[in-house]
Amino acid sequence: MSAPAKTAPNIDFGAFRDPALVRGLIGRIERIVGDRPINLMEVCGTHTVSIGRYGFRSIMPTGLRLLSGPGCPVCVTANRDIDYAIALARQEGVIIATFGDMMRVPGSTSSLRAEKAAGHDIRIVYSPLDALRIAEEQSEREIVFLSVGFETTTPAIAASILEASERELTNFSVFAANKMTPPALRAIADDPETRIDGFILPGHVSTITGIEPYRFLVDEFSIPGVVTGFEPVDILEGIEMLARMVVEGKPRIENAYLRGVSADGNRVARELATQVFEPCDATWRGLGKLPQSGLRIRQEFARFDASQRFDVAIEPTVEPRGCRCGDVLRGRIAPTGCPLFGTACTPEHPVGPCMVSSEGSCAAYFRYREE
Ligand code: SF4
Repeated sequence: MSAPAKTAPNIDFGAFRDPALVRGLIGRIERIVGDRPINLMEVCGTHTVSIGRYGFRSIMPTGLRLLSGPGCPVCVTANRDIDYAIALARQEGVIIATFGDMMRVPGSTSSLRAEKAAGHDIRIVYSPLDALRIAEEQSEREIVFLSVGFETTTPAIAASILEASERELTNFSVFAANKMTPPALRAIADDPETRIDGFILPGHVSTITGIEPYRFLVDEFSIPGVVTGFEPVDILEGIEMLARMVVEGKPRIENAYLRGVSADGNRVARELATQVFEPCDATWRGLGKLPQSGLRIRQEFARFDASQRFDVAIEPTVEPRGCRCGDVLRGRIAPTGCPLFGTACTPEHPVGPCMVSSEGSCAAYFRYREE
């Protein structure tokens, strides 16, 4: 007997935008919160965009603040990593391939877009497999994929390196600036200047990690967390669950995104990532150097590691003047608290990375006119 054909799960997404459900949830949140001050942080850039799109920040009870966190991979990429990619792009015979958002992120003195305009070969790709294809087509050139992203992206990068190994490519390498989410949450939970009462945990990342890696928030900091999806009902349900746990003083880690996230996540994807990468200390923009928060390519695959393959010198880094991205990424201030927001810094002319990516907090606040 042949196996039954796989079909997409029958999910009625309209139910997750149902106005009556939304009104009911908002009413329940108001009753639970009352006039208490509660700070919740959404960790994921896609949540930041959804919250902005649906205008949730402005309709929450007065004391309930929704702060944006370090959930945009472009935003948390350290200036030094951008500078290194720019230095690589200036090497003779090198082609840099990367995601579009990385092009406009300002480094210390330049950006990849400016370098491309100056004649260096920098290409936008949609996946690391596109970079592999370029490597096969241009065997006389060195192709470096500049990789950023969290747990969701890493398995695909690992797969591209395994594929390059399989195809015996000798002109393909990856500059890996990939990061892991829990160490950033730990840094924020431990930050005396950012009092977070609960975390809206990332939906996409959790599809890979499951919910176990967040337990320390409760065990060590007594801070609850809820994994949620991205539709209005998902987000409001997460806020309601968090508000209830905060008010009752009963912190837990909960999964409100059962249609997307299982408690154990995706073990196969994690094993793929672990085959190629190992944890290392990494510098995050705004959060500094966090132990075991980054990923480096294992020695077995060192020939695909651009940081080992190329010996390039870079000048000391210079942070963008006046930019408060560090405080924004920690939730210490809202983007509108930056004096440059909407004046010297706009999506057309970004001063810092949080105004570049569509998932950056500053860009989302600008687009949705949030306060
Ligand atoms: Fe940085 Fe611009 Fe955001 Fe200010 S508004 S924190 S300068 S990205």
